[in-house]
Amino acid sequence: MFSKVLIANRGEIAVRIIQTCKRMGIKTVAVYAEADISSLYVRDADEAVFIGAAPAKESFLNTAKLIKVALKNNCQAVHPGYGFLSESAAFAESVTEAGLTFIGPTPEAIARLGDKTASKALALAIGVPVVPGVHEPLTDLNIAAEAALKIGFPLLLKPAAGGGGRGMRIVRHEDELESALSTCMEETKKSFGDNRIFIEKFISKPRHIEFQIFADNYGEVIHLGERECSVQRRYQKVIEETPSVAVDDELRGKMTKAACDLARAAGYTNAGTAEFILDEHRNYYFLEMNTRLQVEHPVTEMVTNLDLVELQLRIAAGEPLKIKQEDINFKGWAIEARICAEDPYRGFLPTTGMVTRYANPKGKNIRVDSGVAAGSIVTIYYDSLIAKISAWGRDRFEAVNTLNRALNGYHIEGVTTNVDFANAVINHPEFISGELSTHFIDDHFLDGESKVPPTSEHIHLMVIAASLIFHSRRMLMKEALKPMSPLIGGKTETIESAAYAARIDGRTLSVELKGSEASRNWTFLVGGKTYLVTTPELEYYRRRLKLDINGASHMFRLQYSANHIQAFFSGNVETVEIYTPREWNLMKYMKRGSRVIQDTALKCPMPGLITAVCVDEGAQVRKGQELMRMESMKMESGVASPVDGQIDEICVKPGQAVETDEVLLKFKL
Ligand code: ADP
Ligand code: ADP
Ligand code: MG
Repeated sequence: MFSKVLIANRGEIAVRIIQTCKRMGIKTVAVYAEADISSLYVRDADEAVFIGAAPAKESFLNTAKLIKVALKNNCQAVHPGYGFLSESAAFAESVTEAGLTFIGPTPEAIARLGDKTASKALALAIGVPVVPGVHEPLTDLNIAAEAALKIGFPLLLKPAAGGGGRGMRIVRHEDELESALSTCMEETKKSFGDNRIFIEKFISKPRHIEFQIFADNYGEVIHLGERECSVQRRYQKVIEETPSVAVDDELRGKMTKAACDLARAAGYTNAGTAEFILDEHRNYYFLEMNTRLQVEHPVTEMVTNLDLVELQLRIAAGEPLKIKQEDINFKGWAIEARICAEDPYRGFLPTTGMVTRYANPKGKNIRVDSGVAAGSIVTIYYDSLIAKISAWGRDRFEAVNTLNRALNGYHIEGVTTNVDFANAVINHPEFISGELSTHFIDDHFLDGESKVPPTSEHIHLMVIAASLIFHSRRMLMKEALKPMSPLIGGKTETIESAAYAARIDGRTLSVELKGSEASRNWTFLVGGKTYLVTTPELEYYRRRLKLDINGASHMFRLQYSANHIQAFFSGNVETVEIYTPREWNLMKYMKRGSRVIQDTALKCPMPGLITAVCVDEGAQVRKGQELMRMESMKMESGVASPVDGQIDEICVKPGQAVETDEVLLKFKL
């Protein structure tokens, strides 16, 4: 085994590789550029070498520099991670020529399978289905146009040397073809250095299913099952899981055979991922082989209990695969969310900045692969992926639930991320039922927001968290403001009860609560439903709040600003406004142009009981004058007149129970 390895990468994947090396007693050398001086992986590695300016060309893509560092620091091997030079046959070759071991396939195998068109030709030759199309690289506009017409619409133009979803273009009609072809070729040239493209049929609403394989240097090929990565934005994966609900044993049998056959035919070694799309009739088509470790490898590790980086290192060091196909024991379900520095509400545009506050999610069956910590700087120079959160469960339901809880407790400040967006995806009813396709986000989200409203359960839980904090702070202030306050620490033994109105997502809910801080047990009545809540030792400034509600543990992220509390929970981002009954009345009437006045009817602000009517029909009243008193959720409050005017009709009597929006009286204006 190697004694020292150079990691030609950065961020979370460098951290990940260092972990396995440490466990195996292998020393690591990290390389870093200007932007990464304070990065996590730089601290984790045994040695770290500065390699230049931040732009990747001058650092992580600079083959000569990387090899020099490896040799100078006595490394025997280079791990390329993913991205950067990981799929470059030329880099693998240079590494090998320098007398170092490339931790990955041979340059020949990379060339044979890493190139999209070459690998498709190989697939066709051995009978693995590929998407219908023209798989020779095209550079001539006229020939391309002719080929496109033969394939038919809709079709997809792809840069031959492409990757990471960049440069692909759908063409739906013939009249778009000419301009699409020329722009695609131009962009391809800009991004990848040559203008070769190829064309294939666009499969509508496919699922992305891929298979992890490993091959040793002695002809042994195994697979570690599939991963479904259908939830994508801009052809890039957001959520990945294994196994896939779309793959049954029969299909798995056929697809794993295709993946392993391809590897054998290409003389492939080390880790690889065969990517396929599955159409609506469950036909599968080979897309490409990724000749490296994938971003989403943690889910495979969670269900197989294997360390994929260890397997890579052992194969590269010349060990035969010790594990046989039949020894691989797939257990349970795993799901991963990619956490990116990007703004889902602005077209997933990348974001940058310094991470000012950072707290990983914690808990059983939760795995965190993070490249950042408080103080890390996210720059424009590299990929926006900053961390991956994965969860394991005995079944899909449990795995998704665990990931949901993990994301609820994941707190990053300073840089906008997709944490809540990712959580909204896995909480979407269609996701939960397994109805996935690569169009999932387009179909179910608009400007980063789910098209389905929050469930009433989620609304209730957010109202509980917000009103509990609001109430506790209010009691604390009341106590503190009393003359000669005996307050020590704010804990009161007395049973408190209170009633509030909560506004959230355009609706108003009544909240009644009862309990004591000393006992930490509370009963909530929200919108007519009862909840038993156990709180931790409350700290009123915490950004994360863990509550036990009806026996289940829930994690909330909260931001406070007086009675406006922003709650982040299960993919919902909602502002909860909490009002005492008195505030609620005032607030209602301060609204300009409110319907209450226009239709001359004074409506009841919240459910309650009329205790007194203070005016008679026909009376002249002033704005602010008390018209009625009502007991609403255990607090008595006055109903003030919103206008100067004359009472036309009184519609309720003392002792009468009233509902929100019920007409209390009418004005003659
Ligand atoms: P990359 O190298 O960018 O990963 P891929 O060929 O693997 O390129 O495709 C990336 C994604 O694009 C796939 O996961 C799938 O969502 C979509 N895609 C690729 N080819 C097609 C196709 N022919 N029809 C529909 N979608 C496709
Ligand atoms: P703040 O950022 O407001 O200072 P933290 O983010 O550190 O607070 O977390 C608040 C509390 O929640 C801490 O006691 C922490 O241990 C706990 N906690 C953090 N993450 C989780 C989680 N995923 N599940 C349960 N408890 C958690
Ligand atoms: Mg791909």
